[in-house]
Amino acid sequence: MRLGAIEAGGTKFVVAIGDELGQVIERDAFPTTTPEETTQRIFDFFDGKDIDALGLGCFGPIDPDLKSPTYGYITTTPKPGWSNYNIVKAIQDHYPGLPIGFDTDVNGAALGEAYFGAAKGLDSVLYLTIGTGIGGGAIVEGNLVHGLLHPEMGHMTLTQREDDPYKGKCPYHGTCFEGLAAGPAIEERWGVKGSELSVDHPAWDLEAWYIAQALAIYVLTISPKKIILGGGVMHQEQLFPMIYKYLQERLHGYVQKDEITTDAINNYIVSPGLGDNAGVCGALALAKLAKER
Ligand code: ADP
Ligand code: ZN
Repeated sequence: MRLGAIEAGGTKFVVAIGDELGQVIERDAFPTTTPEETTQRIFDFFDGKDIDALGLGCFGPIDPDLKSPTYGYITTTPKPGWSNYNIVKAIQDHYPGLPIGFDTDVNGAALGEAYFGAAKGLDSVLYLTIGTGIGGGAIVEGNLVHGLLHPEMGHMTLTQREDDPYKGKCPYHGTCFEGLAAGPAIEERWGVKGSELSVDHPAWDLEAWYIAQALAIYVLTISPKKIILGGGVMHQEQLFPMIYKYLQERLHGYVQKDEITTDAINNYIVSPGLGDNAGVCGALALAKLAKER
């Protein structure tokens, strides 16, 4: 099977050709400009490539509900020109009849990890990215979770740690998870980019404390069989052992599974198996799912 993949981000688009095993054969990337210009670059890449299906993992919020009148839309983004843009229709009009899979970038990444990566073969998986923003995608008992819209796991309210007076960065909620713990919050709180803080800086202990608090909630609500933590901030690998410790402390023996209570936790909460290809392989997985639909 020849599959097309589009990882649509707020700053850049990555396009690729791959197969049903998640192997990437060819790829290209270009900056996100206007919808018209950006879709033209998509067509320039895929025209004549003879793909069997196309997957699109997209920045959001989006409408991924096939039954909705606004299916295929990027909905309320502040990105100029993209608000209420029907990206699926634009692509479908150019490639009539081509199966197209459309979902959030993080749902795509979760599916890619479940098909090809760190969660291969598992039917309940959480993928969380901690980067410019925080977003989560989930597969629960074999299905990507959408519900009313789609989960927005980065925006839940967390309890702020007593020694952290930071006002929070989220324009909607101030001190939600993203407002406390995404890359821009780290940068504003400490006055330098996260990548410039030393590995033993107290920023990371606080960061792990917030991430563990959020993970406790996901463990208790959707009960994933594996948690994958991606995004730029998670390049700080010293975060992992601190996250394990704080999650175990917080759950306090309540979830009696070895994955939580023992050292097996280091195989329960992991980095993406697909590394920086998680987004593109996620879009390939969405294409594969669309082809099988
Ligand atoms: P995006 O979320 O825009 O797709 P990334 O996942 O790379 O992109 O996230 C970018 C954010 O992650 C920025 O806020 C950046 O400061 C932060 N970041 C990137 N690399 C690192 C690093 N090595 N350590 C800490 N923070 C990082
Ligand atoms: Zn928020």
